[in-house]
Amino acid sequence: LNRRLAEFGTTIFAEMSALAARTGAINLGQGFPDTDGPEEIREAAVRALRDGRGNQYPPGPGVPELRTAVAAHQERRYGLSFDPDTEVLVTAGATEAIAASLLALLEPGDEVVALEPYYDSYAACIAMAGGTRVPVTLRPHEGTFRLDLDELRDAVTDRTRLLLLNTPHNPTGTVLTHDELAAIAELAVERDLLVVTDEVYEHLVFDTAEHIPLASFPGMRERTVTIGSAGKTYSFTGWKVGWITAVPALVTAVRSAKQYLTYVASGPFQYAIAEALALPDSYFDAYREDMRAKRDLLAAGLEGAGFGVYRPAGTYFVTTDIRPLGESDGFAFCRGLPERAGVVAVPNAVFYDHREAGAPFVRFAFCKRTSVLEEAVRRLKTLA
Ligand code: PMP
Ligand code: GLN
Repeated sequence: LNRRLAEFGTTIFAEMSALAARTGAINLGQGFPDTDGPEEIREAAVRALRDGRGNQYPPGPGVPELRTAVAAHQERRYGLSFDPDTEVLVTAGATEAIAASLLALLEPGDEVVALEPYYDSYAACIAMAGGTRVPVTLRPHEGTFRLDLDELRDAVTDRTRLLLLNTPHNPTGTVLTHDELAAIAELAVERDLLVVTDEVYEHLVFDTAEHIPLASFPGMRERTVTIGSAGKTYSFTGWKVGWITAVPALVTAVRSAKQYLTYVASGPFQYAIAEALALPDSYFDAYREDMRAKRDLLAAGLEGAGFGVYRPAGTYFVTTDIRPLGESDGFAFCRGLPERAGVVAVPNAVFYDHREAGAPFVRFAFCKRTSVLEEAVRRLKTLA
C-alpha cells in the first residue's frame, strides 16, 4: 500500500460488519437498511433487465431518463434548475461522486476544509488526490454538534481550494441551518472557493429541521458540486446509483475523472431509479416518518441504557457519549460490545483527525426494523 493510503487500511464499516457476522450480534454499525426499497422500483429494475435496457454500457453521463429525473427532482423539491444534458452526471454511488470530484478539482498540495468528524471516504479521497485535509471540528453543545463559523473562517488559507461539506451530517446527525449555510456561502464567494456538498441524506430530516441545498444560496450555483444518492433515499445501497448536479464546467471536470474510475455503472438500476425519483412526495414523507419513529425508539432506548444521546436532526444515525457509562474509549467499547451486549456500533473516533476529540463518541444506526431496534435496546440495557 502506498504512502498516500497507508493510514486508511480497512474501512471501519467492513471491520464492524465482519465483527457482527462473526459474533451474530445485531449490526447497528454500518449504515444500511434491513428492509429493501419499494417493491415497484425493484420491479422496474427487473423490467429494465428483462427488456435489455442498460445491460450493455450505458452512456457516460448516465442514461437520459435518470438525468432528466434528477433535474426534475431538484426543480420540484428546491426550485433549482439543472440542464439534464450538461449539468447532471450519474456516478457509481455517492462514493464515486466524492472520489471523482476531488480527483478532478484538486491540485496536489491544495487544502480541503472539511467538517470533522467526516465520512471516512473523504480523508482517503483527499489523500488519493494529493490534497491536504484541514478539519473543522463540530463541537458538542446542548445536545447537538455545532459548527463554529469563526473556526471555519480561520481554517481557510490562500492554499484552500475547496470546502467539503456534508449536511445532513454523518455521523453527528447535524443539519446545517439556513443562517449557517448563508455564512458558508458568503465565505465561499469571498474567498473564491469551490464547494463539494454531500447531501445524500437530504430526505432524512426530522422535526423542525429543513434541508436547504447549498447550491440555492446566492453565488453558489456556479461553484458548487452537489452529491445525491439513491442508496440512502430509496434504500438500495447495493445498487450504487448516485449523481452530481453542477454547472457544465464542473460536471465536465468531474466526468473526466469518472471516465477513468468506472467509466459507467449500474445500467438497469439507473432506469429503475429514474422511476423512483418520479414517485410522489408522499413516498419521502412516509420514509421520513418511519425513520423518525425509529430514531425516537433508539434514542429513548439508549438514554434508558445510560448513554448520553445526541438526538439527530437528520440522517439515520445517533451519536452517543459513553462517558456516563464510565467508559471513555469508543474503540475499545465497540470492540467489546458484541461480547458484552450482542450489539455492534461504530466508534466515531475513526472519523476524526483529532482522535481524542472523538474518543468518547459511538454511533448507532437506526435504519433497522422496529423489532430489531427493540431487541438491541433490551440488550444494551444490560450494560448499565
Ligand atoms: N456520503 C455519506 C455521508 C454517506 O453516509 C455515505 C454512505 N451511505 C456515502 C456518501 C456513500 O454513498 P453511496 O452508498 O451512494 O456510495
Ligand atoms: N455510509 C454508510 C455508513 O456511514 C456505510 C457505507 C460504507 O460501508 N462505505 O455507515
